[in-house]
Amino acid sequence: MESTKTIQLKIIDVDNDLVETMQKYSEGMNYVSEVVFQNGKVIPARKLQRIVYGYLREKLGLKSQVSCNIPRQVAGSYKTLSDQIKCKKSEWQKLVYTPSSMTLSYKRDYTITEDSVSITTFSSGRKTYKIQNYDYALQYFKEPWKFAASKVVKHYNGDYYFHLTVSQEIEEPAIEKASTFMGVDVGINYLAVASTTDKKCKFFAGGEIKNKRNIYSKMRARLQSKGTLSAKRVLKRLAGKEQRFMKDVNHCISKAIVKFAVQEKVSVIGLEDLTDIRENTNGKLRKKQRYLHNSWAFRQLQSFVDYKAKQVGILVEYVNPEYTSQTCNRCNHISKNNRKGLRFHCETCGFELNADLNSARNIEHRTRDSRYILESQGCLSTIHTDT
Ligand SMILES: [Zn+2]
Repeated sequence: MESTKTIQLKIIDVDNDLVETMQKYSEGMNYVSEVVFQNGKVIPARKLQRIVYGYLREKLGLKSQVSCNIPRQVAGSYKTLSDQIKCKKSEWQKLVYTPSSMTLSYKRDYTITEDSVSITTFSSGRKTYKIQNYDYALQYFKEPWKFAASKVVKHYNGDYYFHLTVSQEIEEPAIEKASTFMGVDVGINYLAVASTTDKKCKFFAGGEIKNKRNIYSKMRARLQSKGTLSAKRVLKRLAGKEQRFMKDVNHCISKAIVKFAVQEKVSVIGLEDLTDIRENTNGKLRKKQRYLHNSWAFRQLQSFVDYKAKQVGILVEYVNPEYTSQTCNRCNHISKNNRKGLRFHCETCGFELNADLNSARNIEHRTRDSRYILESQGCLSTIHTDT
């Protein structure tokens, strides 16, 4: 499988050529977006390219490579949107692009050295810009890493960065050989709790971050009740601030989770599958799952754990999240009454544990089970060769 990594390098001598190039790029993106939007449903990338290529080349004067990149990217974004619509998280809408992000293919659109990046600009052909590099990033300029499609991004403070993506092929670990699993419960009391097959566990950040998020949510409620124009502006700024704060937190926690997994020689990390939460027989969603499902912060934490795990060759499995918090990890008895606030107390066998840790252990158990389910379905290659 492919391991990828993105590093952010500040572009020092940004000029009008670069700004104009991004401007033209976003014009192209918005034109293509309009075409898909008017169509009322997703258009596959190849078909979309046939429709818009002429306009992008002749009317907007974009280079051929860029005229291929743009429809591919727009098609990808609308595909994501339609996935969100399927699970009722969004509705059909026109996607709008600002001139703050531009994707470039390696060699065709950019080349890079340790201290400069060369980018094909709209008006002045290939131009070289200085980048601010740092010691830690230099390792990604060498084998086995290879440069991949990367981005120029204007950060919210107005600076331009080159988001360089590098990748390398790493050997896919075989799930049938896995012996140590880890379940990660994402939640509200602790942002995450991890537990391994050997019952090693770790709790990740709770209190302080919970407080800070509470402060944000109180501020939000106050501003929303005001409803004035200036309150709306403050709300928008606040949302951006909270997003950046949680993104930093999620980066730190996911990094710590994966580090813990490496240290404990874990081969597979199990996460709750929050994407497809069905209503249960009572027609009600479980409160925690509904909360997590709607929270971009928890979904982001999961996705960070997912890609950071893959970078170091750890597999990620998504398991059924039903009743993970109500199931006794010792006797498998399921009951709402097993929860006593932050404690788990089994009404049948008397087993007691921190409630989030009990959930993490159940997720670990289900992750371990997923291996046997695969085996019984004959999905593992070893089974094929044996029979
Ligand atoms: Zn029990």
